Amino acid sequence: MLATPEMSTYDEVNLFFDTAADRLGLNNGLREMLKRPWRELQVQIPVRMDDGQVKVFSGFRVHNGARGPYKGGLRYHSDADLEEVRALASLMTWKNVLMDLPYSGAKGGVQVDPWQLSMGELNRPTRRYTQNIIHLIAPNRDIPAPDMGTNAQTMAWMMDAYGQVNGHSPAIVTGKPVEKGGSLGRESSTGRGVSYLLQEAAKDMDMDLQGARVVVQGFGNVGSWSARLIQQLGCRVIGVSGVDGGVYNAGGLDIARLQDYQKMTGGVTGFTGGEAISNRELLELECEVLVPAAVDNVITTDNVDYIKARLVLEAANHPITPEVDRILSEGGVTILPDILVNAEGVIVSYFEWTQNIQEFHWEEGRVNEKLRKVLLRAYQEVRMRAMNEQITHREASFEIGVQRVARSVELRGFL
Ligand code: NAD
Repeated sequence: MLATPEMSTYDEVNLFFDTAADRLGLNNGLREMLKRPWRELQVQIPVRMDDGQVKVFSGFRVHNGARGPYKGGLRYHSDADLEEVRALASLMTWKNVLMDLPYSGAKGGVQVDPWQLSMGELNRPTRRYTQNIIHLIAPNRDIPAPDMGTNAQTMAWMMDAYGQVNGHSPAIVTGKPVEKGGSLGRESSTGRGVSYLLQEAAKDMDMDLQGARVVVQGFGNVGSWSARLIQQLGCRVIGVSGVDGGVYNAGGLDIARLQDYQKMTGGVTGFTGGEAISNRELLELECEVLVPAAVDNVITTDNVDYIKARLVLEAANHPITPEVDRILSEGGVTILPDILVNAEGVIVSYFEWTQNIQEFHWEEGRVNEKLRKVLLRAYQEVRMRAMNEQITHREASFEIGVQRVARSVELRGFL
């Protein structure tokens, strides 16, 4: 199947899957089984708002894969729908297995704009959502985690709602506050992994990171930690943005100050340490490295001709369409794909889950050291396969993932 403009994100992720399945010569039965979701649940979430009105939100949870308990985040966003959650669950499947974690893939979503709600209006739907999917989740069945629009507090509410029925169960969610059994190092993990991979890729590409210009789209959990840790490598982070727009400073932004400013104002616009810039202008800045860390489908055929980076690190899920992936790769741009670049959250989630099961706490140094090991082993596997087979890093990543899940299906004797 060729990429077309009408394709949904789910179709696009399946296009990457199909390329891998073709190259691996998977038979039709196995291909269908791996491609389609194993299970999908849609639930209604009625919530009394602070003004007394009742609003009804839609929630979703999708399961995929054959390697162990389902594992994946929960997203709160006004555009979240079943099709998007399906695509993200599929990506989680290949990501978990690429990191060789003992998990299948999952994703959840609630169609709500969290930035418009009070704490009470966020707590109530989180509890109702948890109750509505409670028959599908358990520490050995499905373990949710935060994603866009959710955070450690959301996970603490989920753990509490689950615990009211099943007793104290910290291993039911990951990405919790440390006081509730969360792992040290979880919050910064995705940004930290982005900086580890940047160091490795720069070595392989002969790119000097001292003074290298880096642009980061999105300044939430992943974007702000990425910007901060990348700056510590000696790079100049010249532009960052949030949903309302961005800021630019050719000499490099002061990321610590910008984080303080965002804490006070809720965004990056109006920051006096740089000039205002739109999200479109941000993506088109002259730079060596581009880190999309916000939402999906931000680089499309409309703006691909203006992308100037040599290296793109996909910290967000599916920021690039398959057509753009082809255009940039043929133009000599190195793209490290989402299933490799933003896997750190789930790696540290795995560490958190194992700590909870053992009722034991690791020190942060141990978490970061083990994270680096797991991530760089995966990077080297991808790099070698890409080099040996003369394919892109994305093709290599999907091939490794699909091959491992196919093997697991065979070993379980499903077919
Ligand atoms: P977040 O909610 O903390 O931050 C999202 C950021 O993106 C905010 O700065 C927001 O202003 C910005 N944004 C939203 N819509 C935008 C738009 N249309 N244009 C530009 N900026 C926009 O989310 P996060 O946890 O940092 O997640 C970001 C991405 O990383 C998502 O794709 C998510 O799936 C992925 N991811 C997150 C984790 C994690 O551990 N948090 C792990 C793996 C992958």
